Amino acid sequence: MTVRNEDRATVTEDPAAEGPDGALEVWIDQELCTGDGICVQYAPEVFELDIDGLAYVKSADDELLQEPGATTPVPLPLLADVRDSAKECPGDCIHVRRVSDKVEVYGPDAE
Ligand code: SF4
Repeated sequence: MTVRNEDRATVTEDPAAEGPDGALEVWIDQELCTGDGICVQYAPEVFELDIDGLAYVKSADDELLQEPGATTPVPLPLLADVRDSAKECPGDCIHVRRVSDKVEVYGPDAE
């Protein structure tokens, strides 16, 4: 937990979080989800396991988004948690990308 709090403190130094074009969105490829729930532990405001045992993103008003490729905005205060989810995801199936140009910044397709 201490490490994660330190991560959170440095999040403003992350170039992906800066500037007017820094807004990010996240989606999950359920085809690869193992259902372990790590993402839900990191960011329950953004991710949720459904009864099918797979993780989905949630809308800002807490609605589960189950369409394939559905995205939800990444709230800046939760960026570190969402980023860590993508890094720790054993299925490599959490994709965080810029809204402006759809370039992936965290996840299996990030450069
Ligand atoms: S961390 Fe990845 S594999 Fe695990 S439940 Fe979340 S999306 Fe699925």
